[in-house]
Amino acid sequence: MNIRPTCSLSWRREPVTVSIHQALTQATRVLVASDTARLDAEVLLACVLGKARSYLFSRPETELSDEHSAAFAALVTRRAAGEPVAYLTGMRGFWTLDLKVTSAVLIPRPETELLVELALMLAQRVGDGRPDAPLVVADLGTGSGAIALALASERPHWQIHASDRSEQALDVARHNAGRLGLESVNFVQGDWCDALPAGVGFDMIVSNPPYIAGEDPHLVRGDLVFEPRSALVADERGLRDLATICRQSGLWLRDGGYLLLEHGYEQAADVRTLLTSAGFENVRSERDLAGHERVTLGRRATSGENTYA
Ligand code: GLN
Repeated sequence: MNIRPTCSLSWRREPVTVSIHQALTQATRVLVASDTARLDAEVLLACVLGKARSYLFSRPETELSDEHSAAFAALVTRRAAGEPVAYLTGMRGFWTLDLKVTSAVLIPRPETELLVELALMLAQRVGDGRPDAPLVVADLGTGSGAIALALASERPHWQIHASDRSEQALDVARHNAGRLGLESVNFVQGDWCDALPAGVGFDMIVSNPPYIAGEDPHLVRGDLVFEPRSALVADERGLRDLATICRQSGLWLRDGGYLLLEHGYEQAADVRTLLTSAGFENVRSERDLAGHERVTLGRRATSGENTYA
């Protein structure tokens, strides 16, 4: 049997050089299954060339070297097989930060920026309300460090503890903190609040935990196929970790402290019930830019017992 290597990218079959413009046109055709084919091609080529995307538009006739052509073709082939662009480039923008991402962490989502915005807003209501109050904040299940690092970049005087069960994820988060010069965040390994230092009363706890039900059909589509299942899926219709965090957080928050949770767009009512049952007050949900109830928050009752360890 004569097995010949196949390649869907035509410029590999011919020993001719291609320009940036031609390479993008061909790759966009190969990536037809992606909703963002042209953008994907541009981001990948810019990454291979080590340039900003604007370079591609200003130099469309520039010819690619063989090495760049081959590297671009390899990335386009992987993208055509479904791998997320963020894992191929190893980077994703979140808030004002460029974060390193690997397949050990969830790719930060724009929806999660709502959690950061709300945390910054609520901070004015805890402590003594001064903008420079040195709040103590936890980010549970930090992954790439996105939420903790966004908060640290805005409020360098906060004491932020960020936990994750996965050491591989913490390696990525610590790398991001180092690269961005946000060394104030304390990264700790462990499950939810169990990872937090004892004897500390928190002003605010935030989390984007796994909340997708195991049988959700989205799990077999798009980027989710390549992301760590442990960062996406939770038992009990996706509510198990949200419930654990609601139960534990009351013990770690100071009187009047806030818990803020990201969740699925159909889970807001369930999460409000979880927070209310755990003794939280002023429980409400906020909508993301798509209009979905995406974050639910509550205030630890001032009459509650101060049981944080
Ligand atoms: N928002 C993500 C999604 O639906 C899931 C993130 C999570 O489970 N925390 O793709």
